Amino acid sequence: MSTTKSISFSYKEFDNYEELGTDDYDMVYAAREAARNAYAPYSGFRVGAAVRLESGVLIRGTNVENAAFPSGICAERSALSNSVSNHPDDKPVAIAIAAMTEEEFTDEPVPPCGNCRQVIAEEELRNGKQIRLILSGKKKVIVIDKCSNLLPLQFNKNNLISNLP
Ligand SMILES: [Zn+2]
Repeated sequence: MSTTKSISFSYKEFDNYEELGTDDYDMVYAAREAARNAYAPYSGFRVGAAVRLESGVLIRGTNVENAAFPSGICAERSALSNSVSNHPDDKPVAIAIAAMTEEEFTDEPVPPCGNCRQVIAEEELRNGKQIRLILSGKKKVIVIDKCSNLLPLQFNKNNLISNLP
């Protein structure tokens, strides 16, 4: 016997980041600032992330590319590595992402890549706290309650523990 199941989630869409509440607006602004600091000479795709911690502290991150391509890191993981390293007891509650090519921010929101989804989802799991995603573009902004929405049926520590010999 088989059962068909489905997974869905709702999210909010705004026409402009200026319609966001002050906290989220500040995060998008910080992510945009961070994008300008990106080191992306190979792709020309500059990404900025801003992580908000429970205390209100904002941590910026940017993509850092490398001539050995896999050695590069995305903005989201760059920011989260910073927060884990420097604020280990302060839990992330939201992350904003902005991206630009040359001097223009993208029209459409840019979502986190698969690697980053995996890392953000692990932060949610280990802290027992959802991390809101604020994906900003010039023409629209998408707000998602938690990263695990973007990673259904995720692989996580429970899979490892339950399958260890
Ligand atoms: Zn990524």
